[in-house]
Parts: sequence; C-alpha cells; structure tokens
Amino acid sequence: MSGLDTPSPSGSGYSTSERTTFPGLANCHSHVFHRALRGREVGGDTFWGWRDRMYAVAAVLDPDLLHDLAVATYAEMRLAGIGVVGEFHYLHHGPDGVAYDDPNATGEVLIAAAREVGLRICLLDTCYLSSGFGGAPAGVQDRFSDGDADDWAERVNDLASRHVGADDVVVGAAIHSVRAVPADQLATVASALPQAPLHVHVSEQPAENADCLTATGRTPVALLAEAGVWTPRTTAVHATHLTDADVATLGDASAYVCLCPTTEAELADGVGPSVRLREAGARLTLGSDSNTVIDLFAEARAVEMHERLVTGTRGAWDAAALGEAATRSGYASLGFAPELADADAVTLRDSVRLGGVVEPLWVATAADVEPPKALPYEAEDVAAMMRRAVSAVWERV
Ligand SMILES: [Zn+2]
Repeated sequence: MSGLDTPSPSGSGYSTSERTTFPGLANCHSHVFHRALRGREVGGDTFWGWRDRMYAVAAVLDPDLLHDLAVATYAEMRLAGIGVVGEFHYLHHGPDGVAYDDPNATGEVLIAAAREVGLRICLLDTCYLSSGFGGAPAGVQDRFSDGDADDWAERVNDLASRHVGADDVVVGAAIHSVRAVPADQLATVASALPQAPLHVHVSEQPAENADCLTATGRTPVALLAEAGVWTPRTTAVHATHLTDADVATLGDASAYVCLCPTTEAELADGVGPSVRLREAGARLTLGSDSNTVIDLFAEARAVEMHERLVTGTRGAWDAAALGEAATRSGYASLGFAPELADADAVTLRDSVRLGGVVEPLWVATAADVEPPKALPYEAEDVAAMMRRAVSAVWERV
C-alpha cells in the first residue's frame, strides 16, 4: 500500500495528502439489463410506459446475451469505483416461463459476469409471482415466475448452497413488490434465507399504494410488516411515498432504505422522505437501479440536492453521512463486512486534489476514478463490449 493513504475510519474516508483515495462504493440496487435502455426513446410519459419498453428488452434476453450485457455493465461499475453490486434479479426462466436445464442459469450467469470483472455481488434472487393484486403473470412476466413461493424458495436455496463461504458472492432474497407476491406468500419469501439480505421495492409509485390499499386495506409497508419482512437485514428500495406510520415502521426495524435518486428522477417517481427516515432510525444506502447513470457520487449528492430543491434549505445531509451510505453501509446491507469497502478503496484522479477540492463527494464523478488495476479490460474495450451487447439486444426487440 506504499504511496497510497489508508482511508480514515470516519467520515467519507477521503484523504487530501499525497494521493486521493475513497472507499469502495456500494451499488445496492441494480437491474443490469436495464442498461440496454440507456439513451433510448422509451414509450409514454409515465413509469408505466417505460416499463412496457423494459419488458420488451427482457423478452429477448437469453443467458448468453444477458452475460455479455452484464460483463460490460459490471465493468462500467468497476470503472466508476464500485466494489460491490446488489443485483435485483427476476429474469429467471426461458421463453414462456420454461425453466432452463439449470433453473438457476441466469443467476449463475450474473455471478460469473461479476467475477470476470472483479466485482463483488449480492445476487438478490427475486420472487415474482403475480401481476397486480391477484392477477396471473402476463407476457414476459412468465419468465419471472416460479409458480409459488415454496418453489421459488427451493430454487433459491439450491443457488445459495453453491456459494456458501465465497468472499465475493452473497445470495440474498428479494420480494419484487406487493404487486408481485401474494400477501399469503410474503412470509415464505421473508424466511427462505433467514440470515441473508432481504430486499423489496416499496411505494415507488402512488398507484402501487392505491392498489394495495384497495386490495388489502393496508399500505405496502404495513402489509409487509404483517409478514415479518422488516428487520435489520431488510432493505426497502425507493420508499418514496410513505405515511408517517410507514416511516416509523422502517425506523423501528432499523431497516436499510435504498434510494436511487437518478432513476427516481428519470422515472418521475418523486423524492423520498430521507431525512424523516434517518431521524426515525432507518439507514440510508444508494443504488443505480435502471443504470441510466452509473455514478454513486451522483446518487449520493442527489439525496442532498433533492432535499434542497424540496425544502429550500441546505445541509440536511453532510458529506460524512452520504459517504457512509455510499460505501460501508451499502456493503453491510448486501451481507459483506463494511471493512471490505476500505479494502476496495479506489484512487481518484490527481486533478481532484490539485483542483483544491477538500471534499470530493460534492464534486467528483465516476469519471474521476482511476481504473482499478485488477480490471482485465481497458475503458475503450468496455465501451466496445457495451456497444456490441446493446446492439445485439435491440436487433432482437
Ligand atoms: Zn428496482
């Protein structure tokens, strides 16, 4: 480590002497294949129009193409200083929902892709059984479904058993949303991997809340609480439209809340109550979600910037708290030791330090990260790999 500063144990870990280092960044919510939609016109002016286009991409992916797209996307993450990804994975099966010879083929492809570029991965194997409240899966959703939560749990336990003891792979569980898992099967998912991370999309859109109230008389957070979902190993993803009681529930459980501000802006979701959640006891993490942007500095800054825009005041979040969310808290939420963020520290380009920057979290971008020495590709190779993979996807759509 000579010539490199050891990141300090407090604050964001930024060092201003000699070289500038930053702890490894944790990208706690990714859908890798959404990367193919970046920079494309997608239908409609709401989240739901975008989702139709995203489903069209999901429909054409096979394990080989998913692998190529994942290697390129995960390499982009490494170039952005990311040391660990939480991959929220629900594209489990082949066309019409027929299982591959290995029912965990697509999950294994993603784990292999992460390993190829030296990225730690928490494969959040996602249960997705229904369309809306009480509807059967339709169209490409057939590829997401295992039929029921018991069959999902059996498949996931097989996958987890293959990776016990790995220092670069964690297999976790996820509930796609209250739309996608019937209420009477939520507890089965929550208890399937009792020591592992458990993630769930919650209240990203007002329509989800309204539909849940109509179907069950409860908010999504309250419904999930009844199933025992909220514990310190649980991450609520988005948590944008919450009641005061929802905020208290997540805080009382010491749950993680993963905000994905660039995606939440891109999809017109809204601004989540990050300060109220923090004050209630919830712990912030961050994710690139749709991978329209892969830049954890941008995600971290946006939490504070969105607060400024909404409240008209500055300073709700300081750099130390945002740095912790972007690094060590994120590692912990994905089932990795938080100290690994320091082991995965990245170097920022000298221009950041020489430009007089004291706190890079407010100004740095992914482009300020020096390429990690262990990455087996040059940046130009990664761009070419991405262009090939994305072109191959759209040739099939
Ligand atoms: Zn998501």
